[in-house]
Amino acid sequence: MEHSDKFFIIHYAEVGLKGKNRIYFERKLARNIRLSLQGTGYAEVKRLHDRIAVYLKQNTDITEIERRLHHVMGIAHFELVVRTKKDVDEIKETALQLTKDKNFETLKVETKRTDKSFPLTSPEISSEVGGYLIQKTGTNADMHNPDLRLWINLSHNDAYIYTDKLQGVGGLPVGVSGKVVVMLSGGIDSPVAAWQMMKRGAKAIFLHFYSYPYTDKASLEKVIELTRILSESNYRSVLYLVPFAELQQTIVTETPAPFRVLLYRRMMTRIAQRIALLVDAEALVTGESLAQVASQTLPNLRSIEAVAEIPILRPLIGYDKVEIIAKAEELGTFEVSTLPHQDCCSLFVPKHPATHATQEELDTAEEGLDILALVEESMNGIERKIVSFSYE
Ligand code: ATP
Ligand code: MG
Repeated sequence: MEHSDKFFIIHYAEVGLKGKNRIYFERKLARNIRLSLQGTGYAEVKRLHDRIAVYLKQNTDITEIERRLHHVMGIAHFELVVRTKKDVDEIKETALQLTKDKNFETLKVETKRTDKSFPLTSPEISSEVGGYLIQKTGTNADMHNPDLRLWINLSHNDAYIYTDKLQGVGGLPVGVSGKVVVMLSGGIDSPVAAWQMMKRGAKAIFLHFYSYPYTDKASLEKVIELTRILSESNYRSVLYLVPFAELQQTIVTETPAPFRVLLYRRMMTRIAQRIALLVDAEALVTGESLAQVASQTLPNLRSIEAVAEIPILRPLIGYDKVEIIAKAEELGTFEVSTLPHQDCCSLFVPKHPATHATQEELDTAEEGLDILALVEESMNGIERKIVSFSYE
């Protein structure tokens, strides 16, 4: 099958990248793009100097590729480029074709040359092609605020023309920053927190605690679906499901009621840490946002964190709920997160939870518990699931 004369050029942003890091970053990005484009029938993903090209076949579905590239972390922007011969007449015709389905009244053509031997200078090409387009489409030139911009790049062998610069998500390719264990509850916040970390190049390993038989299994279905949605950018994802009912039962019978939620959280943190060790992750991630609920006041966050030996990252700490909801809607997780379910932490919750529990108070409350044994017991019941995104 012959390659199409159209292809995508992908740009990435992080300028601080140098030497070995840069090569690692570029390889990872190219690899992730290949994973994203599986099944689309693209021809090749190739690393060029400073950018990545996605070559297409004649019948590749361009809209689908474009849609998927919008989910690849680390892409700053990209464009669909048409290749032509380095001939002014051909360039003009191709440019005219490209403007056909566009709605515009003003236009600007910009040219860049790497081939300085070409008979026309960049401004001359721009004005020649621009003049032609204006005449053919009955539009006007506008050098400052045009409705449509058309770019022409002249390289040594060919000319490349494109009209739209498409915005990517930005950030870093998933995997370049290491791994994190994301505590995924089935609520609105934690999937957004996961996405923010993935965007900074962290590979997410997901972890969910459930209280079956005290709650139904709806939360499991939800976290599997949330993990599936997130795996469009995280790729093959591991989800750990931890039975939490017995442990909660023990906390309820053995500790003072006002501290329950905080003690659940501490146990979750300890178990999550064990998993982090298992999968070689360097931090835990939660969807907590400052003072959103009683367990997320500064003193409470602090006394939960006291049992952690690795960092707990909270990418949403400074976000308002409305901002988190807007992001969740954009990601498509909101719809799933708002399906009814009972979170294990809403179980046996006292009327008046402590809002200012100190570390010492929680330590004292835990004195009667055999913490190591409880962690061990939960670890024994753990289930590991592989979740992937599948395109229809
Ligand atoms: P979310 O919308 O993410 O559930 P929330 O505002 O409801 O957050 P909490 O229920 O207090 O807040 O949970 C705070 C954080 O603790 C969650 O964002 C999540 O990271 C973690 N968490 C809570 N419940 C669970 C659970 N059942 N399994 C795993 N993590 C959980
Ligand atoms: Mg919740």
